[in-house]
Amino acid sequence: MTFQQAPHKLLVIPGPIEFDSSILLANATPGTSHVSPAFIPVFGDCLRLLKKVLYGEKPGNQSFLIAGSGTLGWDATAANLVEPGEDVLVLNHGYFGDSFADCLETYGAKVTQLKAPIGGVVSEADLVAALKSKKFKLVTITHVDTSTGVLSPAGRYAELIKQNSPDTLIALDAVCSVASEEIRFDDWGIDVVISATQKGLGVPPGLSVVLASERAIKTLEARKAPVGSYYISWKRWLPIMRAYEEGRPAYFATPPVQLVYALQAGLKAIVEGPQSLEDRFAAHKAASNKIKDGLAQLGVGFVPLGREISANGMTAAKYPEGVTAADVLPKLAELDIVVAGGLHKDIATTYFRIGHMGVTAVKTERGDLDKVLAGVKTVLDAARAKK
Ligand SMILES: *Cc1c(COP(=O)(O)O)cnc(C)c1O
Repeated sequence: MTFQQAPHKLLVIPGPIEFDSSILLANATPGTSHVSPAFIPVFGDCLRLLKKVLYGEKPGNQSFLIAGSGTLGWDATAANLVEPGEDVLVLNHGYFGDSFADCLETYGAKVTQLKAPIGGVVSEADLVAALKSKKFKLVTITHVDTSTGVLSPAGRYAELIKQNSPDTLIALDAVCSVASEEIRFDDWGIDVVISATQKGLGVPPGLSVVLASERAIKTLEARKAPVGSYYISWKRWLPIMRAYEEGRPAYFATPPVQLVYALQAGLKAIVEGPQSLEDRFAAHKAASNKIKDGLAQLGVGFVPLGREISANGMTAAKYPEGVTAADVLPKLAELDIVVAGGLHKDIATTYFRIGHMGVTAVKTERGDLDKVLAGVKTVLDAARAKK
């Protein structure tokens, strides 16, 4: 079956992103029972393929796919791995660090935050000093903070945490980095990766995507306080995920069946597609450099303080002197290009955000990147001509 998407504006925000037609077609699966022999292996496949995307195939690791969005992964981490009154260290690189901290406090965690300067990353020295000051149950890291476009050195942070506080769990908010940035779950020793379908995975929104380590599951099993949530309790979901992986029917709450078919198609394209995973990350880096070099030529600056700490799946671009959001966002929309405005509250009116994940980065024959650069040039020329 072939399928033509309705004409639409090019969606280049940092998620949701443009979807390949094959993914949307997979989502158009007819009514199917969530415990049918047809569906069980599809769900199981997704659980297994996710581990491959994250280089996290060590036995004992457990993936969770639960109806919800990326945010639900924060609740899962806070509710299942932290007991009320326990200390958590949040490495905060912007808006999403603030929100993760709020979520942890909602479940009774005592949160200490290390806040990076806007556009920067938490320094290694500050991290080590914090780890020496107190025993933390958990450290959270935002891998790409979508409000600043900063890519944090998550692997290096994990190494420092292992050296200085080996018993501390490590959670990585990778909602905006899974499948666009390399994440070495087993090698880095991450305990929880939190993601969602609608960003780098290139699948419609609606699933919380999580991988947990054996150490995280043991932490859950050793809890003294009951898990302070009904829906997101891993004690309820663990038997379900294990059943799907083993090919048995099980029910706690209905999964979004059609979306799971779409996710299987998306994960297969990533893991088993003509490109290797390594090629995929390289394609995102090339797309990112193309966008950033092109914008720099147009006199546009960037929120991240250096290219080496800039995300490869998105760009946070500063409006040039004398240009405002009104000159750019609605004007690009008139050219059928949808970008996102600023999100970090201290600088929101000074920058805009372009997503270049998934097909936009990988399927260069689509011409998305050239279209975006040409559009930005057109609107900036018009804004400057007005002055
Ligand atoms: C998008 C995003 C989230 C929230 O995900 P939702 O699917 O919108 O709930 C969390 N963290 C980061 C880094 C994100 O980019």
